[in-house]
Amino acid sequence: MAFTPQLSTGGTLDAIIVGGGIMGLSTALHAARAGLSVQVLDAGAIGQGASGLNGGQVIPGLKYDPEWLLSHFGKERGEALVDFAASTADAVFDVIRDEKLAVPFTRNGWIQAAHTEAALAAAANRDRQWRARGADVRLLDKADIAAMTGAKGYLGGWLDRRAGVIDPLSYTLELARVASVAGAKVAEQQRVVKLGKEAGFWRVSTQAGADLRARSVVLATNAYTDGLLPGLARTIVPLHSFQIATAPLPAYLAANILPGGQAVSDSRRILIYYRKSPDGRMVLGGRGRLSLPSSAADWAHCERALVRLYPTLAGIAIEKRWYGRVAMTPDHLPHLHEPDKGLLAVVGCQGRGVGLMSALGKRMASYLASGDASQLPFPLSPIRPIPFHAFRQVGVAATIAWYRTLDAFER
Ligand SMILES: Cc1cc2nc3c(=O)[nH]c(=O)nc-3n(C[C@H](O)[C@H](O)[C@H](O)COP(=O)(O)OP(=O)(O)OC[C@H]3O[C@@H](n4cnc5c(N)ncnc54)[C@H](O)[C@@H]3O)c2cc1C
Repeated sequence: MAFTPQLSTGGTLDAIIVGGGIMGLSTALHAARAGLSVQVLDAGAIGQGASGLNGGQVIPGLKYDPEWLLSHFGKERGEALVDFAASTADAVFDVIRDEKLAVPFTRNGWIQAAHTEAALAAAANRDRQWRARGADVRLLDKADIAAMTGAKGYLGGWLDRRAGVIDPLSYTLELARVASVAGAKVAEQQRVVKLGKEAGFWRVSTQAGADLRARSVVLATNAYTDGLLPGLARTIVPLHSFQIATAPLPAYLAANILPGGQAVSDSRRILIYYRKSPDGRMVLGGRGRLSLPSSAADWAHCERALVRLYPTLAGIAIEKRWYGRVAMTPDHLPHLHEPDKGLLAVVGCQGRGVGLMSALGKRMASYLASGDASQLPFPLSPIRPIPFHAFRQVGVAATIAWYRTLDAFER
């Protein structure tokens, strides 16, 4: 069932949310359920940002393991962050269940596949830390991973059974629908071009001519952040992730490929990720060039990776190619900012935002409703643009090329 786009017509709202991806919509849904009046404004159509384009892997955790979080953030904040990290996949599957979202999903886990001894040792370390906290995880040996993935070249890996796979576009559109049903208004083609403060309220103006007022504004624009809030875009490095989908696999080829329906990410420096879609296609993604793609050749690295893992798929038709943007921060953590009272921003999904942004949106809604910053798992931090940001992009491109070369040697 589709959602009906709506634009508020006057009065003062509790919150305006800029960006209608998973972060903005999860915030809107939970805020509306808490009784707040909410307007979501997206520059394009719902689902056209990363939220509708992603790999659908619902992975709990952050880039860092529990012991790192404790040593970096101290016991109290660290323990809270470990609990938060453990819960991010639940945030997705709970909302699918509780709000009865029509989203195709499986919850049979996620495999982190190791292709070197060093990666296997890291997986063992991760496994030890999460098992000590009672997580449903397990180390995989070479035979296990070969049987579970059907892929070539892995020494072992790690299975996180808290994880799963969703159809990302259905999830995003369904979040928009239930947020609307809960009372939030969600409008498309409303790029916010101006933010101002007037008599203690935030005034938000869009390119299409809408002018709205609210007590709070949440910028949920992540990798698509533009110049709306000075400096914010320069706190992230936006990268492109490219994906391909094959034609539906014939049954004789499909039988041995991911028979349990898990999603996989591998341990390469430029990692690739893949899964089988509900209609039987292989969907595989990996980091792509930083400039916009100009031809199918820009997805060649994904096609090479597919055949390296599954030589039997050589020659299979690639029916879809697409890409989207992910936002990285220098410390590989999401950043939450409140540069002025009631003006909030969240950036830095690190390519893991399906679970992370679903969970963060729920916490952001609690913060909007209560004003209690302890609801937020990460501390609010000042906006600190990355020094020499433009050159950083060049550095990232060079690093990606170098990492690809190193990965090729480790095959
Ligand atoms: C190809 C790809 C594969 C990925 N795979 C995975 C995966 O398998 N698992 C996983 O967990 N994560 C994955 N990710 C990351 C995940 O998709 C993101 O972390 C998540 O979708 C971020 O959600 P968001 O709501 O913060 O941002 P987005 O979904 O990007 O939404 C931001 C929105 O802000 C809007 N916007 C920007 N500026 C303005 C403005 N001025 N006014 C109004 N609106 C504005 C944009 O139009 C956009 O819709 C992947 C990402 C990509 C691109």
